[in-house]
Amino acid sequence: MRAIRLIKPGAPLALQQIEMPTVGARDVLIRVRAAGICHSDSHYRAGISPVEPLPLTLGHEVAGTVEAIGTDVRHFKKGERVCVHYMATCGRCGFCEGGTEQFCSTGKMIGKYRDGGYAEFMAVPERSVFHLPEEIPFEQGAIMMCSSATSLHALNKARLRAGETVAVFGVGGLGISAVQLAKALGAASVFAVDINPQKLALAKRFGAIPIDANAANPVEQIQSATSGRGVDVALELIGLPLTMRQAIQSLAILGRAALVGLTQKTFEVAPYSEVLNKEAEIIGVSDHLASEIPLLLTMARSGQLDLGHGIIRTIPLEAGAINQVLDGLEKFSDDVRVVITP
Ligand SMILES: [Zn+2]
Ligand SMILES: [Zn+2]
Repeated sequence: MRAIRLIKPGAPLALQQIEMPTVGARDVLIRVRAAGICHSDSHYRAGISPVEPLPLTLGHEVAGTVEAIGTDVRHFKKGERVCVHYMATCGRCGFCEGGTEQFCSTGKMIGKYRDGGYAEFMAVPERSVFHLPEEIPFEQGAIMMCSSATSLHALNKARLRAGETVAVFGVGGLGISAVQLAKALGAASVFAVDINPQKLALAKRFGAIPIDANAANPVEQIQSATSGRGVDVALELIGLPLTMRQAIQSLAILGRAALVGLTQKTFEVAPYSEVLNKEAEIIGVSDHLASEIPLLLTMARSGQLDLGHGIIRTIPLEAGAINQVLDGLEKFSDDVRVVITP
């Protein structure tokens, strides 16, 4: 079968003809219908994040149809529409049993540590496969498996309750999902902080209160909009020391700041006034959980999570076209989502 693979970090992805994946007893073989090209994939190609063993097929945002099943697979049949949770985990270790399988010691991220979806077929353990409702197109089902799932996990980690207020710092792909999911979970008001007018306008369309961080200090704007109270939950989705601190400074008493954006840099906090005195919490967020996918699919099916707004462009399973998209992602942001449809 055809697969577009990382052969050497820093070099373009290349087409290889490889064997069909072996289907273990508990695996589902999926015919890939849609594979999202994620910003992380450009980091993988560039060698910024490790990918092994090489050569390896990238692609961790995948939807498709069941082509075959292993002998122990019980919940799937040939031809069914499915989407894939991007961690392949053991299901038996302490982390897996405790519902924190992103730390599974033998867990492997699909498209990073085992072959992913830039291919005609992919095999994954049954526990990472979910039925994709008819109402959700393959393209949307694929991209939901990364950014939307992580946004939902961040809101869960922050223990958002109905009636609470939320501030979302950064309304790109993750942020637009976060705005909609916070609303669907009953948030009383959601502030969307960004400097990009188009992103702010889109967030407003989904019911958020836009906060233009270019116009004035976003913390002061949030404080004045909440009568000095602050927000119960702040999500930082950018990965900048400045916005991480702003997220914390925006918190109300007993507020929770969930940090999702990646950075190696450090940031400052004033412990007494910004954390201790409010019993505020700073929470790290890593990936998401398989157990969160069903709720995500329910929200997408009911229209509470709408990914149809974004410009989704589709391209064929061709190395040249994929490399071109990755080149673009290295330079620009994620305004246009590109999905491979083999
Ligand atoms: Zn992704
Ligand atoms: Zn495990």
